[in-house]
Amino acid sequence: MEKILFIINPIAGKKSGINIHQKIIRYLDTDIFKPYFKYSKYIGHISEMAKQALEEKYKAIIAVGGDGTVNETARVLVHSNIPMGIIPSGSGNGLARHLKIPLSVKGAVELINKMQTLQMDAIRINNMYSFCVAGIGFDAQVSRMFQKMEARGLFSYIVACLRCFNRSKNQKFIVHTKQKEHLLNGFMLCFANASQFSNNAYIAPGANVSDGIIDLVLVKKPSYLQIPLFAYKILTGTVENHSLYNRRTGKAFEITQENDVAHLDGEPATVGTKFTAVVKEKALRVIC
Ligand SMILES: [Mg+2]
Repeated sequence: MEKILFIINPIAGKKSGINIHQKIIRYLDTDIFKPYFKYSKYIGHISEMAKQALEEKYKAIIAVGGDGTVNETARVLVHSNIPMGIIPSGSGNGLARHLKIPLSVKGAVELINKMQTLQMDAIRINNMYSFCVAGIGFDAQVSRMFQKMEARGLFSYIVACLRCFNRSKNQKFIVHTKQKEHLLNGFMLCFANASQFSNNAYIAPGANVSDGIIDLVLVKKPSYLQIPLFAYKILTGTVENHSLYNRRTGKAFEITQENDVAHLDGEPATVGTKFTAVVKEKALRVIC
């Protein structure tokens, strides 16, 4: 029997952690796997449990939660060769959606039973990691506001977006690459490993998590009149030809920004006014 650990974030999204535990047992192939369950109780607890689990020789460690839970687990498993599985139960589930992991517990557990893995890239930002999409500017402000709100979920997220939109403006970003320096003016600058933020909002429709490339996306502030079409293009994966949108690619960037905040997979982080973003190729083994 193979030991498999499920790290459950009971407050992610709307689904109850207790139900998920019972569903996992129902669908897991218990002829092969012996499941263990741990519940996170505070911020940072997920990473602590994942660290401890690395020494306990599990066949795989499964993050049960949203992109924040996945990030906290993945940042520990990166470079370890221990496969990480995902049972999506957050409000957005960006990485799970990108990897085509079923959003149902049944489907996600059946995928874990097969134990097929992909070596995916990670983006290292200073000494932290992003596995889905990181960003500075508008979306960093939104993640900061969203974190302070009591209610989670898509509706709260939209409220946070609207509140931040009014007070955000284009700012200067300096992108230094090996070859040269680019002075960019924009509303937000995103570092995409996966193609979408979450909820099928495709910020980098062609992004590939195992091509060793960061998709660096600059978006200029839309006017109110431009928002509906821009949002439509984001949600249909057709944003690349929009006049407010610019994408370049690379393996390493040094960035200068006016603020010192960012978001990493939707979670706010302080990165400084000058920071580095470097792709770590095929650094995480993920079940998908
Ligand atoms: Mg890539």
